[in-house]
Amino acid sequence: MPARKHIPIRTCVACRTPAPKRGLMRVVRTPEGMVELDPTGKKPGRGAYLCRSLACVQKALKEKRLERSLRVSLSAEAAQMLLQMAEQAEKEEVTRS
Ligand SMILES: [Zn+2]
Repeated sequence: MPARKHIPIRTCVACRTPAPKRGLMRVVRTPEGMVELDPTGKKPGRGAYLCRSLACVQKALKEKRLERSLRVSLSAEAAQMLLQMAEQAEKEEVTRS
């Protein structure tokens, strides 16, 4: 029997739905205390995950889920960046289907 590839599962901080890591956006608190998006999933630091969905990003921002999860305050720029990423991801979903 061939060994199955391990698929890492992470939980969206907004809707609490577990999903394969690759299907989620990773937000990372860098060792310098900055909040960055991590499209590669490889940046060092404490990470939080979000669905590629505008609804989840908005919920996470509104309820300060990322702040709580990462224990850092999110800048307006970082929040804006997240919203743009989610919008972009949703557009791509539409194009693909
Ligand atoms: Zn979600």
